[in-house]
Amino acid sequence: MVFWPSVIVATPAHSGVGHTLSYRSEFLLTPGTLVRVPLGTREVLGVVWDCPNAAPEDLNEAKAKNVIGALEGLPPLNARWLRLIRFASQYYQRGLGEVALAALPPQLRELDAAQLARRMKKRAKLATAMPDGDTPASDAADTGHELSEEQAQALAALETAQAPVLLFGATGSGKTEVYLRATRRALDATAPGNVTTQVLVMVPEINLTPQLEARFRERFEPVYGAGAVVCLHSGMTPAQRLASWLAAHTGGARIVLGTRMAIFASMPGLRLIVVDEEHDPSYKSQEGARYSARDLAVYRAKLESDALAGQGQRCLIILGSATPSLESWHAADQGRYLRLAMPARIGGGALPRLRLVDMNHQPKGAVIAPPLLAAMAERIERGEQCLVLLNRRGYAPVLACHECGWKSGCPHCSAYRVFHKLDRTLRCHHCGFTERVPRACPDCGNLDIAPVGRGTEQLEEQIAQLLAGVKRPDGEPPRVARMDADTTRLKGSLETQLAALHSGEVDVLVGTQMIAKGHDFRRITLVAGLNADSALFASDYRAPERLFALLMQAAGRAGRDAAFMGTQGGASEMWIQTWYPQHPLFATLRTHDFPAFATEQLEERESAAMPPYGSQALLRADARTQAAAQAFLNIAADQAAGLPHRDEITLYPAVPLSIQRVANVERAQMLVECASRSELQRFLAAWQPVLHACRSAPEAKGLVRWAVDVDPLTI
Ligand code: ADP
Ligand code: ZN
Ligand code: ZN
Repeated sequence: MVFWPSVIVATPAHSGVGHTLSYRSEFLLTPGTLVRVPLGTREVLGVVWDCPNAAPEDLNEAKAKNVIGALEGLPPLNARWLRLIRFASQYYQRGLGEVALAALPPQLRELDAAQLARRMKKRAKLATAMPDGDTPASDAADTGHELSEEQAQALAALETAQAPVLLFGATGSGKTEVYLRATRRALDATAPGNVTTQVLVMVPEINLTPQLEARFRERFEPVYGAGAVVCLHSGMTPAQRLASWLAAHTGGARIVLGTRMAIFASMPGLRLIVVDEEHDPSYKSQEGARYSARDLAVYRAKLESDALAGQGQRCLIILGSATPSLESWHAADQGRYLRLAMPARIGGGALPRLRLVDMNHQPKGAVIAPPLLAAMAERIERGEQCLVLLNRRGYAPVLACHECGWKSGCPHCSAYRVFHKLDRTLRCHHCGFTERVPRACPDCGNLDIAPVGRGTEQLEEQIAQLLAGVKRPDGEPPRVARMDADTTRLKGSLETQLAALHSGEVDVLVGTQMIAKGHDFRRITLVAGLNADSALFASDYRAPERLFALLMQAAGRAGRDAAFMGTQGGASEMWIQTWYPQHPLFATLRTHDFPAFATEQLEERESAAMPPYGSQALLRADARTQAAAQAFLNIAADQAAGLPHRDEITLYPAVPLSIQRVANVERAQMLVECASRSELQRFLAAWQPVLHACRSAPEAKGLVRWAVDVDPLTI
């Protein structure tokens, strides 16, 4: 008997959304089986999509190639995984093969069957290695905290939840403890058919994983054995990723903790998905298939639940945040999600008081206004810590010559190179182009070239100077440190820096938004935001949402330890320097009233038919010239005439991106809008072949690449 399996392989991105290749096989192959197949002159990894015993009509049977072999010892990917991939491929308008193969660890492609069998044996041993004398502990023996009233109520509600849960919990309300308990419950549940149940926990950035990972390991490894918790993120080596992936796939790992890529982990026993800080933009991929891991998580939980419904089981999903995305908030308003609120901080700690510094009434050129500086000094003298936020790393955003007007532009991008004082370089934050600072102005030879504006590196230096006269309780001068992408680039340096902060070695931490997220700092009582204004009037309609979230998150770092606050004199504070203290955003921030903010923003969105009330996509084009990039977009728009739902679709004019050129490539985009998500989907699907054809239009000569971004986060 002969079979004609259709196989997903990593074919070029634009070979069509539902594209598979047909092969010949002597054996029946279950869909989801990983196979090796010939492709051109190479031998590649593929996933069996379907395995009919009749050849498809358009296949030339004589020319069909044989499947080389299956990766034996590896169970097939299950039907839900295949459906998740198919959905992501269709919804985000990318090739099936591109999505599927990108979702698998790269090393899987190089493994041969024998290597694989050895690995699987090793894993199986590890997974069953329970600690000595261990009997699965009951909840009472659990090392967790005694639950607060709100946590207990939230957990009880999770028990019966029939919809995705939006856990709207203030910073410090103990959301993590709820995740841990819900995880415990999901893992202890007995599933029919010898299935080991599993939990997927997603976090926005690797940066946030060390603390959370430690808490999950601490809680679950003593119960389920070493190897029960694995991580999946892009900071791991290929070998580590493969090991984690295999452990998840075979059920050896009970908990997978990861960043957005983890949404595609194969987890046959999945019973709970947690998306922590669900509002975070890093859940949206910005390259390849531009998927939203949060949105896919909601879809995946539904897929799993549908499959489990017959057994009276389900896969729960918890989206947690103190500042939910407006999409999720809206879904909860409509009753599609179940909103569970935990407004109080553990221990009854108060959220910080908002102090606005009106920069119109401060000495000209003040980096830190005198009242803020005085407040910081007072905190330091009491042994408390301050956090200062500035959204710009480096020493100065640009270096300039005051004689001739030369500026440190990047030769490859339409952006300035940032001055980094420590290693005296000019670095482009877009393409990475780095050079040593010139001794003199490259244009006129003037020796007096100077930094303009300020970044975190300079701020760190200036704060140290400004606080030089202040003393800590031990009589020592204050210690100022900085944390941003530059200082944490080296592996392990983030952990070291966090440790220094926790142990109280640092009095003032200066940094970018990285320091605002997630960390559970104990002695921070003052948080200051220095340049919030730029986001108040940004053209991006999501800017207020992001600013509000950032400031709430930053405020959430202050006064987290109620017991510590009790021993201190004052309440915690959030300071913001602004030229627009009357801006309404600050009024809602003052009362920490996220619901009021969300309601107001949603009303604005509704009146403008913006998401979540309408759907958007972007068509992006990169080319050698701006004209070619725009020509591609314009031709694509012309050729869309007559496509399904064209009359309901608005195609906006092609425009250059705000940073128009990066690494010598010109960038342009076109906004695509429609009131209906499903109509937009049908239109985009029909547009795909047109877009492929438009590549070769003579006007678009020099086109480098194009892509569709569905539900874009920045437009
Ligand atoms: P969130 O994630 O909501 O910001 P966390 O889960 O980090 O909050 O909890 C804040 C702090 O409170 C943590 O140090 C945590 O260990 C502690 N905590 C959480 N729940 C409890 C509880 N029920 N009793 C005592 N402490 C708790
Ligand atoms: Zn000059
Ligand atoms: Zn550059």
